Amino acid sequence: MDCIFCKIANGEIPSKKVYEDDKCLAFYDLNPQAPVHVLFVPKSHIASVNEITEENSDYVSHIFTVIPKVAKELGLENGYRIINNCGADAGQTVMHLHFHLLGGKEMGEKII
Ligand code: 5GP
Ligand code: ZN
Repeated sequence: MDCIFCKIANGEIPSKKVYEDDKCLAFYDLNPQAPVHVLFVPKSHIASVNEITEENSDYVSHIFTVIPKVAKELGLENGYRIINNCGADAGQTVMHLHFHLLGGKEMGEKII
């Protein structure tokens, strides 16, 4: 499958890794939008939040146990923002589920 984040997850395409285990990979975004901008991806091709099921949701829950540990390691004690873009209206550009971890500055105006 021609999926850039599958290729990053299996090491075919290099990335600046922050954390890795058998279920997920965290790596720095190529085009950072904050001093800390890390992407969390499952090591299974889930295209978007729309594709999360009872069968694969353990990948997602696992990522959310890893995020606070990585955030702490990266010094984000003052807080951070997690963003997921799902589908065209939200501007999802890579069709492999990913969660943006943003921090290292005051994040500015909230959407909600
Ligand atoms: P989306 O817009 O789909 O929510 O986010 C995709 C993100 O992936 C963007 O922030 C973009 O900068 C990042 N990105 C796209 N291709 C690559 C890549 O090859 N390597 C890394 N590290 N980030 C990428
Ligand atoms: Zn993929």
